[in-house]
Amino acid sequence: MKSQTHLTEPQGKIKKQIAIDAVLKAIQLCEQVQAEMVSTDAIQKADRSPVTLADFGSQALICQAIGDAFPDDPIVAEEDAQALKENASLLERVTDYVSRFCDDTSPSAETVCEWINRGSGEVGSNFWTLDPIDGTKGFLRRDQYAIALAYIVDGVVQLGVLGCPNLPYRLDAPAPERGCLFVAIRGEGTQLYTKTGESLEQVHVSKAVHRFAESFESTHGDSNAHAKIANALGITESPVQIDSQAKYGIVSRGEASLYIRLPNPAFPDYRECIWDHAAGMIVVEEAGGTVTDANGAPLNFLTGKRMHENRGIVATNGKIHQHVLKALLSI
Ligand code: AMP
Ligand code: MG
Repeated sequence: MKSQTHLTEPQGKIKKQIAIDAVLKAIQLCEQVQAEMVSTDAIQKADRSPVTLADFGSQALICQAIGDAFPDDPIVAEEDAQALKENASLLERVTDYVSRFCDDTSPSAETVCEWINRGSGEVGSNFWTLDPIDGTKGFLRRDQYAIALAYIVDGVVQLGVLGCPNLPYRLDAPAPERGCLFVAIRGEGTQLYTKTGESLEQVHVSKAVHRFAESFESTHGDSNAHAKIANALGITESPVQIDSQAKYGIVSRGEASLYIRLPNPAFPDYRECIWDHAAGMIVVEEAGGTVTDANGAPLNFLTGKRMHENRGIVATNGKIHQHVLKALLSI
């Protein structure tokens, strides 16, 4: 399935810059929503509107930018504006947030809905896929979440921009600065930026075998099985448990050797969404790692919004990939 298609030089540069600028803007919107959240406690219990606000706002800004620059490119995004159209006060608040990031005139509520609905495209020969907020539970906890945008041609992810607004520059630094953007172009490596767009460094996986990453939410994986795999690999450090595709970022920077996501036994029919993995996958691959499903099959982004042919995710530093797949056969 893998083709050698690379984005041609000028096209790749333009797509990359538009995508970076769009995700940086969306990060700012998400951070404003988060800063203005009244109380995490109250929100977690009853009112999920902040996350909804940020989801819609982030999607509106990114789809506006991509749709204006590349009107022929379909965008397959997580949200649509239907629920928003039925909630006038929420729509007004989303419109207000989005307006803060529009240079010229403020968009009308209808325009904001139109931007959001640009994300209702179909999977095809070329398309973008967007998760406007990945890890909503992490967002509500003011912990890790991501904004994930990828461009896919003939089933091959060619560009990934992964914004992680709360991720430290280095995971284990004592008083770390936070806010990372991982940008990967097929054939050109993975670059780390700050959340204000300053380039930090090219990132690489670590060939050392140390720790693994898994979801913070235990229902999104099978932590017992993950621990068995870690044990089989001789990994003794406790896992990094964080929300969102920030886990791919951690592997790409060599801060974990493995991100594993096996299907939770309580949800055997769960199929992964394309926007939860496309950007993260290229970030790890271009940093020198390998990503497949738990059977060793390539991720297939052409079966619709969900990856119907894949089960689970294994993202590694490359070196240990076959060991992990082999260990999976014996647990
Ligand atoms: P994470 O932050 O890595 O735990 O992943 C968050 C994503 O998990 C959400 O965007 C959901 O699409 C996805 N998700 C929801 N339920 C499940 C499940 N049962 N198994 C795996 N992923 C799930
Ligand atoms: Mg998600």
